[in-house]
Amino acid sequence: MLAHAHPPARQISLRSLQAVWHPCTQMKRHADAPPLEIVRGDGVWLLDAQGRRFLDGISSWWVNLFGHNQPRIKTAIHAQMDRIEHVMLAGLTHAPVVELSERLAARTGLGHAHYGSDGASATEIALKMSAHYWRNLGHPQKHRFIGLAGGYHGETVGALSVTDVALFRASYAPLVRISDTVPAPDLRLMPGGVDEHAWVEQAVATLDAHLQLHAAETAAMIVEPLIQCAAGFAFYPPAFLARARELCTRYAVHLVADEIAVGMGRTGTFLACEQAGVRPDFVCMSKGLTGGYLPLSVVLTTDAVFEAFYDDDITRAFLHSHSYTGNPLACSAALATLDMLDDGRLAANRALGARLDGLFAPLHEHPRLRHARRRGTIWAWDVVDAPVDFGRRFADAALDRGALLRPIGATLYFMPPYIIDDGEAVHLRDAALDALDAVLGSDAPGARADAFPALP
Ligand SMILES: *Cc1c(COP(=O)(O)O)cnc(C)c1O
Repeated sequence: MLAHAHPPARQISLRSLQAVWHPCTQMKRHADAPPLEIVRGDGVWLLDAQGRRFLDGISSWWVNLFGHNQPRIKTAIHAQMDRIEHVMLAGLTHAPVVELSERLAARTGLGHAHYGSDGASATEIALKMSAHYWRNLGHPQKHRFIGLAGGYHGETVGALSVTDVALFRASYAPLVRISDTVPAPDLRLMPGGVDEHAWVEQAVATLDAHLQLHAAETAAMIVEPLIQCAAGFAFYPPAFLARARELCTRYAVHLVADEIAVGMGRTGTFLACEQAGVRPDFVCMSKGLTGGYLPLSVVLTTDAVFEAFYDDDITRAFLHSHSYTGNPLACSAALATLDMLDDGRLAANRALGARLDGLFAPLHEHPRLRHARRRGTIWAWDVVDAPVDFGRRFADAALDRGALLRPIGATLYFMPPYIIDDGEAVHLRDAALDALDAVLGSDAPGARADAFPALP
């Protein structure tokens, strides 16, 4: 900013490159293509300053459930804003945080809601609570954690300890206490001739062997239930989650379900865990919790965990806080979101998933896509022989065709807001097909002139 004593009247996109250090971005990549300025949202659509429309095919990093500019959530936030915008939650309380906590408890069978602002802080709250629980019970040596290979639980230093994504962690390895990882039965890696049951049991056996050796020093196992989204939408069978629950119980290790991405109805049930019939010791939620309106995260746990902290001794209490913990505006947005996400909506979501599956058939059958998979309203495909830098090139090509899509590595995925209609889904599909042609090249008739050939 020093270079510009008077901010120049330049495009926001260009000023952004000077003033904003964008997340998850090599800034140099923007040297000749600045980020797109969005000025407005409308349902599944994002609009730029020129009035061009982009279908938000990834719910703005998985947070937006009911569309942009959502009337009910806006009304709820406005109403709360006229009462109290924020008040500290130590020694004080307020109706939105109590109602939200009660409703989340009723939906999940877990309670004692402890709030943070981001997913990563929820991860850290759960890990700290688990280790502190064991300490309060007289087992201070139980402070290690187990995660799944490829697991993602956020990127603060503590959360990175259980995030097994080399790109995000390697540069900070000396800062991080790396946790143990066990394999997840990623269905894409299942060898031919092995059935799903055997594939699950193979991963279970590894977990069992690990727990046999290390349960005495392990506080908790943390998992993303059913889908490891950041790992490139690695799906694994619900049976694995059920077996992991059994083993954690047998070896006295907590099970932490990180439902930050898959919760809030995304996989067809309120929590993904429900599909495995599993009750975890901790559930972390964030992302869609406020419908994409305000940052909020929550950790829910059992009475047993809560009671281990309930004491006259302050050091046995959970002394963890964030300035905006349980913010009333964020809680009011979450309450409005929960109002919309009732049982009828969950059933409608399941029907939506099945119906769009039909519309997305050309992607399922695309010769350059494999491992077509869906759970709830998440679709993913892996690109065969993806060119170097496929993700960025595809994202640019998709924007040119009116869709916001950001593949993870060579995995293309859709995670649209729940309000997407059939016409919009067709737009998303066609933009993706067209962008694939543009990036991969195509021998098919009608290939785009600007298509460049796939790299070997
Ligand atoms: C996004 C995500 C997080 C981290 O949430 P932030 O709000 O980005 O800190 C943690 N776990 C999972 C499964 C996620 O998808």
